[in-house]
Amino acid sequence: MELLKEKILSEGQAQSEDILKVDSFLNHQVDPGLMRQLGQAFADHFKDRGITKVATIESSGISPALMTADALGVPLLILKKQPSKILNKNLYQTQVTSFTKGSSYELTLSEQFISQKDHVLIIDDFLANGEAATGAIRLIRLSHATVAGLGVVIEKSFQPGREKILEQGIEVYALARIQKLDKDLIEFAE
Ligand code: 5GP
Repeated sequence: MELLKEKILSEGQAQSEDILKVDSFLNHQVDPGLMRQLGQAFADHFKDRGITKVATIESSGISPALMTADALGVPLLILKKQPSKILNKNLYQTQVTSFTKGSSYELTLSEQFISQKDHVLIIDDFLANGEAATGAIRLIRLSHATVAGLGVVIEKSFQPGREKILEQGIEVYALARIQKLDKDLIEFAE
């Protein structure tokens, strides 16, 4: 998506070979007009797939995910990060270990909001190693719902996330794909 690439080039900050900061429009301050366009782009791509809900992992995927849900006319599920397992039979939980952050959390979803009839589109801000998205897929499958695909705003294509998700039989749709990062360098994939 050209508009997103321009925004990344003008406001993104490559901090190292691994980390891109997009705090001015996505992760800290949020550009609502851009989010609306991202949501429309995801909705255009995944329309006619029988999607009943959009899901995202709290918290930085919420803005584009909400706009996608709005464009598709379906509810948004926020998969919550709990520090530890909660013994409550009305919850689905799965552990996610973040290599990026060096920590673990329990991804959590109430049974109340999902059923085997649901076909869920997962939306997130970044795809890096694919751990968060894999946790979201596992959680949705635990609830016997099906996964319609994964939409990410920014894919770091030099990291293994895309392959990891494709291996699970899930389509990955990225609005911007970054091939190379370095201090003050951002290169897009073709
Ligand atoms: P994963 O490695 O599981 O694919 O990424 C986990 C999460 O880490 C993403 O959902 C995103 O919130 C965060 N993340 C990964 N790489 C970056 C990055 O380069 N910049 C920012 N701001 N967040 C990232």
